[in-house]
Amino acid sequence: MRHLLPLRCLSALLIGVSMLAAAAAQDAAPVPQPAPRPMPSSVHRDAGLQLELYFPALKQGGVGLLRLSGGGILSARADFLGKDISFFHAPGDAWYGLIAASIDAAPGEYPLTVLATRDAGATRFERRVEVQSGNFIVQDFALGGSAGQLVSQAAEREAVALIRAITAEYQAQPQWGAQGFALPLAGALTSPFGAIRTLNEDFSTRHMGWDQNAPEGSPVRAMAAGIVAAAEAAPAARAGIYGKFVMLDHGYTVFSSYAHLSEIFARAGQRVESGQVIGLSGNTGRSSGPHLHWEVLLHGERVDGVAFLKQWLPPMPAAESAGG
Ligand SMILES: [Zn+2]
Repeated sequence: MRHLLPLRCLSALLIGVSMLAAAAAQDAAPVPQPAPRPMPSSVHRDAGLQLELYFPALKQGGVGLLRLSGGGILSARADFLGKDISFFHAPGDAWYGLIAASIDAAPGEYPLTVLATRDAGATRFERRVEVQSGNFIVQDFALGGSAGQLVSQAAEREAVALIRAITAEYQAQPQWGAQGFALPLAGALTSPFGAIRTLNEDFSTRHMGWDQNAPEGSPVRAMAAGIVAAAEAAPAARAGIYGKFVMLDHGYTVFSSYAHLSEIFARAGQRVESGQVIGLSGNTGRSSGPHLHWEVLLHGERVDGVAFLKQWLPPMPAAESAGG
């Protein structure tokens, strides 16, 4: 019996807290707060500057966050795997850069150079970054009908050319808002990024996005705030293997795309908010049944979108609200 008293006290306390919370909820809707910045994996200091790496290593198709802080930084760049990557400034915080390991980069160590330009000259950091195998799975699919007609090198080349054309222009500053990125719908994740696929027994390809279970007509939501870079309504007209698809520009070369849609509720140039419904899932293009295929791009490369979702990002307000 002795133990009942503290339990009763605790439950009374909990009821009190929940009543307070309910009262507060009536006053104002809760404002979601950005997650706090995690601890870096490594910290490097030179000439009054601090470079933090938020990854111990990168998987093939993975992304890595760099943070640079210290006085008098005017700009910063990184050189990694042949890409010249600019840093962006997060207001009231520091300079950040995102690097990507190409899905095709062989496992091994690669040099990473970070160059900070300052009032008082330049400071250079030289590190080495390990790229690890993505341990990609192998899949076989059979595709008939109109989807089967898109099993060709020509269709693949068209898709790559389309993506290259759309991503050639982008907003320089990140526009992803305060909450970062979230899944476009709630369905179970099925086929992963990077899967090594054989279609109709003899056509080899890679799965450059993620698939989610989605009955035909499921609402598809913008993974983060951004601007509609493409909304291809005509089935198989330009988008080919992607069918009806939407692509969003989140700034800083980050794009998300949503494929095989049945309906599109977005138009090119339109600003969308995180979670805004941009279309309905479907089965258009090179698809073997209703589902949602989505991709994330960084620096012109398709990267592991689920890894990108898990990546902490500094809150970056959309251009319209910046400074307002
Ligand atoms: Zn897919």
